[in-house]
Amino acid sequence: MDKTILHLDLDTFFVSVERRLDSKLLKKPILVGGLSDRGVVAACSYETRGYGVHSGMPMKMAKELCPEAVQIRGNAGTYSQFSDVVTGIIKESVPLFEKSSIDEFYADLTGMDRFFGAYKYASELRHRITKETGLPISFGLSVNKVVSKVATNEAKPNNQLKIDYGLEKPFLAPLSIKKIPMVGDKTYQTLRNLGLRQIRTIQEMPMDIMQRVLGKNGTVIWNRANGIDDTPVIPFCDRKSISTERTFDRDTIDVIKLKGILIAMTENLAYQLRRGEKLTACITVKIRYSDFNTYSKQLRIPYTSADHILIPKILELFRILYNRRLLVRLIGIRFSHLVSGNYQINLFDDTEERLNLYHAMDHIRNRFGEKSIVRASAMGKNTIGRMHNPFDGRPPIVLAHRKQ
Ligand SMILES: [Mg+2]
Repeated sequence: MDKTILHLDLDTFFVSVERRLDSKLLKKPILVGGLSDRGVVAACSYETRGYGVHSGMPMKMAKELCPEAVQIRGNAGTYSQFSDVVTGIIKESVPLFEKSSIDEFYADLTGMDRFFGAYKYASELRHRITKETGLPISFGLSVNKVVSKVATNEAKPNNQLKIDYGLEKPFLAPLSIKKIPMVGDKTYQTLRNLGLRQIRTIQEMPMDIMQRVLGKNGTVIWNRANGIDDTPVIPFCDRKSISTERTFDRDTIDVIKLKGILIAMTENLAYQLRRGEKLTACITVKIRYSDFNTYSKQLRIPYTSADHILIPKILELFRILYNRRLLVRLIGIRFSHLVSGNYQINLFDDTEERLNLYHAMDHIRNRFGEKSIVRASAMGKNTIGRMHNPFDGRPPIVLAHRKQ
């Protein structure tokens, strides 16, 4: 049966939130990001794009390219709150949705056509979101996730686009290969070197040529170029947390050791978040005392996957939680309210050095194993080590104590 899949994406989300809070910023070129000398652009308004500005570039360079731009230091807390409000509206409105990042959603509207007309329903939802939050949002509606996502990007800013059944290929044909979701800079260069520019050319090629050049990735790209995609909308509640815990052979009251283990656990789970390109917005610490009484404490936080933000918060929760002078039998942590998103969410707190440090540390872990590099305070503390991406769609047996 044909599906009806909606993709919703808030336009220049961080910039729009800043404008919602300060109307003087409307229509001005805006750079959101770290303001220090070594800061990085996390988001930029459409007005800056003509100057060659893009997210991820050094703030200093962006400022040179577009000197009249207003610079704003981002605030992950505020963005997370707005994201939650939008999520709430979508949750109320559609039967099945996936929050794929802080500002992006998929909803399965299959079957709705018979009753209301999915396009009309999606339009009303889009207007309601803008009315209630003041944020511009665009959508694409089609038979699958890939085509809808491309449609959203073509509709932007602040607009909507429906691709009728059967018209997926002609819609994609004239677009640049860069617009195929998942075609990053590297793949783009490889494809360009093959003389490919428009999606049409991939559509006309036999699939096995793409496969020979790009391996398994080639098949995925060929399918996407042809508007073929059968990935389901994954409900919001699925796979929303990762956790780890440790039961001691002998109960302990050694607080320094306990803190070291918590730090090692946090580093390990945060690394897994980054590997899976996920962010967490809720952390929990659990303690079981030797008398088997178990306590846990949880805290909502702005979306993040950064150790240096998570570790102090985990230790603070532990400090509040560990109030009985009793031996501890088990400790554990959990990250929940997970969404897709990369480390960019924390760009405004960070300098290039810090970003490079994370990249370097994760690179070493990818090559030599998760425990090959740890903070000094976490040295010698065993946590469960795993070398894989826990979010790659395989069954969730991979993480011990993983909660669904
Ligand atoms: Mg967006």
